[in-house]
Amino acid sequence: MMEYAKNLSQRLTPQSAKLPGTSQVANSAGGFTWKLDAWGRLDRLLILGTEGGTFYVGERELTIGQAENAIKLIQTDGESVVQRVCEISESGRAPKNDPAIFVLALAAAFGDAATKRAAFEVLPKVARTGAHLLKFAAEADELRGWGRAMRRAVGSWYVEQTPAQLAYQSLKYQQRNGWTQRDLLRLAHPKAPTSEHDGVFKWITQGDADQAGPQIEAFEKLKRIEDIAEAAELIVEHRLPREAIPTQMLNEPEVWEALLQNMPMTAMIRNLATMSRVGLLTRKSKAEKEIVGRLTDASLLRRARVHPLQVLIALRTYASGHGLRGRGTWSPVRSVTDALDGAFYKAFASVEPTGKRIMLAIDVSASMGWTPVAGSPMTAAEGAAAMAMVTLATENDVQTMGFAHTFKTLGLTAGMPLNTALKKTRKTIFGATDCALPMQNALKQSLEIDLFVVLTDNETWYGKQHPSEALLEYRRRSGIDAKLAVVAMAANPFSIADPEDPGMMDFVGFDASIPQALREFALA
Ligand code: CA
Repeated sequence: MMEYAKNLSQRLTPQSAKLPGTSQVANSAGGFTWKLDAWGRLDRLLILGTEGGTFYVGERELTIGQAENAIKLIQTDGESVVQRVCEISESGRAPKNDPAIFVLALAAAFGDAATKRAAFEVLPKVARTGAHLLKFAAEADELRGWGRAMRRAVGSWYVEQTPAQLAYQSLKYQQRNGWTQRDLLRLAHPKAPTSEHDGVFKWITQGDADQAGPQIEAFEKLKRIEDIAEAAELIVEHRLPREAIPTQMLNEPEVWEALLQNMPMTAMIRNLATMSRVGLLTRKSKAEKEIVGRLTDASLLRRARVHPLQVLIALRTYASGHGLRGRGTWSPVRSVTDALDGAFYKAFASVEPTGKRIMLAIDVSASMGWTPVAGSPMTAAEGAAAMAMVTLATENDVQTMGFAHTFKTLGLTAGMPLNTALKKTRKTIFGATDCALPMQNALKQSLEIDLFVVLTDNETWYGKQHPSEALLEYRRRSGIDAKLAVVAMAANPFSIADPEDPGMMDFVGFDASIPQALREFALA
């Protein structure tokens, strides 16, 4: 006999239907999930960006959806949006600064007078380098054009740098996104506050280096030098960055040895492969000792605001021994890959274990093997595995599982090399998505779990029960008031976490502050 109530029971609502009495919406895979609130969506944009799109939605469509959401927020509470942009940009929580610059340009274009003023006021805090400023100019030029306020803000950026900072920034970032420092200076036309500024301005706008200061003078001199030892000396003495070096010198190990002396941490991490390729960074070399020393220094890493995702990308590329687009081959030095492995964990602020029983469940369905993380060459599944490794390294009572439409063992263990963890995850990618499996599986196996951490793109659709309902059922039948942390690996607007239940919460994947945030949630 048919049981009428059974058809209404939330426990048995398939993911392809909306949970009765909730505000769920269809996700891109045709399953029903909650729609994240506008501020949550903004955070996903600021931290994950939309570069590369997702498995379901192209980059353009994802960007338009996110921009519309941001504009709506800017028009209702623009000053808070500017503040949020500033907070996330300055804290170094996001792998890339580009989304912050984009939202700042949106605020400068679509905000009311007070919002525009706020956006221009924080410009130097968000656009911390010449590259950031060029990027902002390119975005703002498309969105709003150059008004008086924009000219003044860009002009102040130049005026507020010291002459030495300005020389360095304009040597390092001469052009980006079709814009040059010369374009910006000519449009903004700021009045030079000192004669040293005036000298740098003249070099930028007219190429006249006479009064541009010692670093730019050295840069001009370097163009005429042929002797490598002499060039190296000039590079060290004037702290010239790689971007200021003539191309034909960039295959010389002596030049790289000179560059390494004053190389910023992020540049060093990006150039490891090149330094090995040119023969500077080899086993038992002086450079090896220097580089490993810096990579293992936690305070250096933090001061340089190195984001863990940058380290992970560098590790994955460097250890592979060949460039992405056929940019040569090299022999990776083992101590360097080991140091990068350690640096990944150090780039997160360290946290104490919670003592909770934790289940880390990684969505390894097909979409996770395709969606890029924060516009990087890493996939969402790889990103999720790396985040799982951070929890494994901290907590004492953790189990991991992979899932798609069925359960898969991943075999991740604490201390396993990150590259092995990524490889294992890549090999596991399969099938459709059922985000209820972690809770159902724990129940079936009588596992005692306080916190389920589900790392996913929230495109669940396959299962016969919603993940939120699976959690409620787990709580009911186990007697444990278990929580669900959803770590979102794609910047879409969906979440499997019920916003009405304080025991379920949404987090943004590859936010550098995730370990603290998860800890607070677990202990709350
Ligand atoms: Ca999927």
